[in-house]
Amino acid sequence: MKARTHSLPSFSAWLNKGFDLRAHAGRMADSRTAPEISPQSVFLALFHSFVFRLPSFQQLDSELAHSHFQQWIGAERVFRDDTLRYSLCGFDLDPLEAMLVDVNRRLKRGKAFDEGRVQGCLVAALDGIEVLSSFSRRCESCLERRVILKDPAGRKIEQTQYYHRAVGCQMVHSPVKPFLAIEWLRPGEGEDTAALRLLTRLPDLYGSRFFDILLLDALYAQTPVLELIGKMGWDAVISLKQNSRDLYQSAVRLFAQRPPDLAFTEQCGHKTHQVQLWDTEGLPFTIDNPRPVRVVRAEEVLERNRYREGKRTLLATDQEWLWVTTLAQQTFPTRIVHQLGHGRWKQENNGWMDLTQHWAFKHGFLHACQHRPKQTNASGQRVRVPNRGLEAVTLILLIAFALSSAFVIRHSKLVRRDHLTAIAVAAQLWAWISKAPPSIRAPA
Ligand SMILES: [Zn+2]
Repeated sequence: MKARTHSLPSFSAWLNKGFDLRAHAGRMADSRTAPEISPQSVFLALFHSFVFRLPSFQQLDSELAHSHFQQWIGAERVFRDDTLRYSLCGFDLDPLEAMLVDVNRRLKRGKAFDEGRVQGCLVAALDGIEVLSSFSRRCESCLERRVILKDPAGRKIEQTQYYHRAVGCQMVHSPVKPFLAIEWLRPGEGEDTAALRLLTRLPDLYGSRFFDILLLDALYAQTPVLELIGKMGWDAVISLKQNSRDLYQSAVRLFAQRPPDLAFTEQCGHKTHQVQLWDTEGLPFTIDNPRPVRVVRAEEVLERNRYREGKRTLLATDQEWLWVTTLAQQTFPTRIVHQLGHGRWKQENNGWMDLTQHWAFKHGFLHACQHRPKQTNASGQRVRVPNRGLEAVTLILLIAFALSSAFVIRHSKLVRRDHLTAIAVAAQLWAWISKAPPSIRAPA
């Protein structure tokens, strides 16, 4: 009889055969001395809690105590979230990053990104995300900002807010959209500095030809970014806003004198986009760096019907977009740059939004945790290891995100047969842990 729901053994068999899950788990390490619960068990517990999309770490505690979870991951005994915290705060990030890289390489070899190629090219994007913020809890690597709040009496007060922010690089045009790497902002530095660090590190992790085109926000329309991208051999499409004043103004002035190079209408559900595009090569990037660049401008009128009290009214909104790109007109016509430039992937399932909204990404777990293993420093003192908890948890989440989406989108036949959502698949895998016979262990 054909299986009616997904089972954990079949998911694990796929993970082990295709992605060497057990071997990777065996390489995990942390700062504890001779721990009773291995780093491998800690990793597998957290990895599965993301795969199952458990709502909280209390739920993970409860699963470890009451279901077959402990046997399934091969944990030495039942453990609670204090063990998880103590281990993760001093977790070794290298094996986690190595696993993420290996998963992505295997996905590429398995042609998981081919469906999203644009003129034969693979597309990635860089984007920033805020992971958590707090007015009270802080750690040594928190970023700080002043924010204006209203007190209960409605008076404005200024307070310091502590937060963490990272820049991630993600494959974006294929149905499976894994993150390639993530870089955390250090106290006092801007997002562009972290982004440059990430871009410099990427070829060391993946080689420079892992993707071909990089999509970037207006913040990155800067000479150092453009130069680095050129050095790595990538092409770029970067949004252009008024912060790049010279280029923005010379493009707007030039395009104002001539009719659009292309005009068309796109129908998307109840919405109609009337699009006009202008395209030019050879505008100087900045006064200091006059290398010629190509600029594409879009003027869009979005029309949609609104029904209110039985009456239909037509709403129209105007939008203007500009992009600067290194792609040549000959191989990448105006319309393609327009498609690439629109960060539509941000709103899609499986993009940033999905990760932040449905993957419990914004949790303060481990933040400012003082209960950490100690190490002897250069002057012989016993000091706490730096807190790597947030980085470790995030990398495990990104690994789980990549593998779960690949399983749902590319592997599962049940998903297609029963039209299951990714969340339904997670629930089926989670349910399996409660009904499995206790003797069952994951296939080695
Ligand atoms: Zn912090």
